Amino acid sequence: AQVVQADFVKSSVRTEDCPSDGLPEFALVGRSNVGKSSLLNSLVRRKRLALTSKKPGKTQCINHFRINDSWYLVDLPGYGYASAPQELRTDWGKFTRDYFVNRSTLVSVFLLIDASIPAKKIDLEYASWLGQNQIPMTLIFTKCDKRKKKKNGGKRPEENVSDFQELICGFFQSVPPWIMTSSVTNQGRDEILLHMAQLRNY
Ligand code: GDP
Repeated sequence: AQVVQADFVKSSVRTEDCPSDGLPEFALVGRSNVGKSSLLNSLVRRKRLALTSKKPGKTQCINHFRINDSWYLVDLPGYGYASAPQELRTDWGKFTRDYFVNRSTLVSVFLLIDASIPAKKIDLEYASWLGQNQIPMTLIFTKCDKRKKKKNGGKRPEENVSDFQELICGFFQSVPPWIMTSSVTNQGRDEILLHMAQLRNY
């Protein structure tokens, strides 16, 4: 399940503009600063690949990376820049929402959650929206290498993870699959790639 080839393909602003070759895809999304670029780079074992999507103007787009010429990793805009707690219901979130609902080749959304801090309201809202709309989702907990800090509520990543799962279980019919990761130690890297391979083969 390793990545041997990764190519940036295109940035799209609308679902209709996304690649139309029918290859299966997985979308990475999360609050800005959650560690999405780091994870993307760790998955493809390459430094700076995701920087392509960090160029001005690209961060608000749907960015497609073709992997091994057979599937896509999709980098979606980070949410939570604005203080508005209802971003998914605003214009700002309209096109990602449209993408989630209408992109037929989307196999699963990988929702990134920072495990080094207590659950954030906006993450819970995002997870709840995906659950209500029955979008297949995998929870990716990031920064699991970080030790507990008093200012972060003093909890270990494992405790934040189980708190989060407890808070969202009401939104889903069954508990979504979840993986603990760190881009520093590469924890979870192979597990994510294996999980994606299994989902593609369904
Ligand atoms: P993005 O905004 O979601 O793309 O987040 P970045 O990948 O740019 O990371 C945001 C910050 O978190 C940076 O300072 C990273 O060095 C740090 N970071 C990202 N992943 C990890 C991780 O797994 N462990 C630790 N300790 N820090 C991380």
